[in-house]
Amino acid sequence: MSRLEDIRAFAFDVDGVFTDGLVLAMPDGELLRQFNSKDCFAIRTACDKGYPCAIITGGCSESLIRRAVSLGIPNRDIFFLSKDKASDLEFFCARHSLTLGQVAFMGDDLPDIPAIEAAGLGVAPSDAVAEVRAAADMVSTYGGGRGCVRELVEQVMKAQGTWGFNPEKPWNSGHPEEITRFAKLTGRNVE
Ligand SMILES: [Mg+2]
Repeated sequence: MSRLEDIRAFAFDVDGVFTDGLVLAMPDGELLRQFNSKDCFAIRTACDKGYPCAIITGGCSESLIRRAVSLGIPNRDIFFLSKDKASDLEFFCARHSLTLGQVAFMGDDLPDIPAIEAAGLGVAPSDAVAEVRAAADMVSTYGGGRGCVRELVEQVMKAQGTWGFNPEKPWNSGHPEEITRFAKLTGRNVE
């Protein structure tokens, strides 16, 4: 198990981690998910401070891609329809010249176990299935969609003195052009 001080990147499953696991199945096949703004703020902050962040999920939807991109996660670090999360995690680390020991991965169900075991810091939301909690180095105080992502990112960044928000200069990097255009067009808040 790596120390919080050694973590340089984050990777996350989506359903049951960013969400409470519930999906609303729409007639057109799209699945609607609810995200927690506190988690999203943490990802935006981590990306902005230069921590590579990845999404590694077995699912796929356009709204999920838009959400991830709006938080600062580049398209290339979004792994959809993942069949082997450990090898996707390895690929992500290699691309950023990091070792598996330098990455934290959070997941909640059986397909996440290999990545949890491979990562330097394997983390489970408090309501992950029992096998995942047993495999994890750390179990969050919070459940999926209830702030577990925020807690992990905050703990790591606080341990490294990088956590914080400057209202004078909110973000170093802007949203990607496409998201900014989308926000202006629709008047939607994309934070
Ligand atoms: Mg899941």
